[in-house]
Amino acid sequence: MRDDNCIFCKIAAGEIPSRVLHEDEQFRVILDLAPVTRGHALILPKNHYANLYELPEDVAADVMKLAKKMAGTMTEKLGCTGFNLLQNNGEIAGQTVKHFHLHLIPRYDEDGQSITMKPTSPSAAELDEVKEIITRA
Ligand code: 5GP
Ligand code: ZN
Repeated sequence: MRDDNCIFCKIAAGEIPSRVLHEDEQFRVILDLAPVTRGHALILPKNHYANLYELPEDVAADVMKLAKKMAGTMTEKLGCTGFNLLQNNGEIAGQTVKHFHLHLIPRYDEDGQSITMKPTSPSAAELDEVKEIITRA
């Protein structure tokens, strides 16, 4: 379950050095090399899954359990005042490494970062339509 051309497979296997915050049978949690804030880290499954769509359900559940644990530890140790979880799938969504990873991003007062969304104003009919499409059997 690895891709020999994948840099995160190599990092998760310890073949390329990284700063490891946590390791268990399934995952390695490493510091991001280009952090957006102090302590920005990535949860990497040791198996290669390109994205969320390929991630098995049980691994997805374990990722979120580990994210909760890491967020608690990092908040206590770093004294951050907020926390973002970010997970990108596909180039349009900002994914640059095609091996599933969950960003752990500690936030600090006035850290200068903005992980923001731009709300739009669809009509009620448009909202009804998209709800209908997604929930259609
Ligand atoms: P994406 O844009 O795919 O969601 O996030 C990829 C992340 O991986 C980026 O934040 C980037 O800084 C980080 N990254 C890319 N290459 C390496 C590397 O070789 N080592 C580490 N520790 N982080 C990396
Ligand atoms: Zn990989």
